[in-house]
Amino acid sequence: MATLEIKDLHASVTTDEGAKEILKGVDLTIRSGETHAIMGPNGSGKSTLSYAIAGHPKYEVTSGEILLDGEDVLEMSVDERARAGLFLAMQYPVEVPGVSMSNFLRTAATSVRGEAPKLRHWVKEVKEEMGKLDISAEFAERSVNEGFSGGEKKRHEILQLALLKPKIAVLDETDSGLDVDALRVVSEGVNAFKAAGDGGIMLITHYTRILKHITPDHVHVFAGGKIVESGGVELADELEANGYVKYAVKNEPAT
Ligand code: ADP
Ligand code: MG
Ligand code: MG
Repeated sequence: MATLEIKDLHASVTTDEGAKEILKGVDLTIRSGETHAIMGPNGSGKSTLSYAIAGHPKYEVTSGEILLDGEDVLEMSVDERARAGLFLAMQYPVEVPGVSMSNFLRTAATSVRGEAPKLRHWVKEVKEEMGKLDISAEFAERSVNEGFSGGEKKRHEILQLALLKPKIAVLDETDSGLDVDALRVVSEGVNAFKAAGDGGIMLITHYTRILKHITPDHVHVFAGGKIVESGGVELADELEANGYVKYAVKNEPAT
């Protein structure tokens, strides 16, 4: 069992003009086995929330807390956060030329598990998970994300999720740029992670379509740097029908 608690989180991004506050008091608790959809307009700060959790150096937490099973996440390095069981699938996954997917995955697994996975087991495990995600074998030897299509990058994020088995997974717009088939495959991967055990999921999304495949336990509307409303799946249906107009914040497009 695991619990991620975010309490009155404020965070700023460092820009050329100085610090700009993006997160303005986020409160959210995610427990093992729960899926929370975070839905909001572009520019509302959803990715900033995911970066703050992951420890991206550009985003400075100015006040508030992030606790994982009571441990202070904000005191941890990026590596320590991953080892503690936090996982972030980024909206725009980075390319790592010269590092093969298979090396990258094994290094990540070694770091998270605290020991190198036994090679024979590992090869089998990776092959099996790649098969489930319709990723062809040749991808194992390609450089991380280099020249991957949007959909291929997202599948690889889900492959990492399957292999690293975090306590809490933050999936930032994992649905964006996916065609219908890729959306189904990626959703199946997320659902398999859900079904496999007691991981908790923060599913950040702008559109409701992924929620046809992944049923959240809780839906939160994110606007102006914080959660402004919470409910069940019925809230997603309402957003589908009415958009974010009701929650519009100055300087944010209400689409
Ligand atoms: P969302 O993911 O909801 O679309 P983001 O967290 O990406 O929102 O962005 C929230 C706001 O913070 C936007 O106004 C965006 O322009 C600004 N922002 C985010 N990252 C940076 C950055 N590195 N430099 C300057 N502004 C940023
Ligand atoms: Mg955006
Ligand atoms: Mg974003």
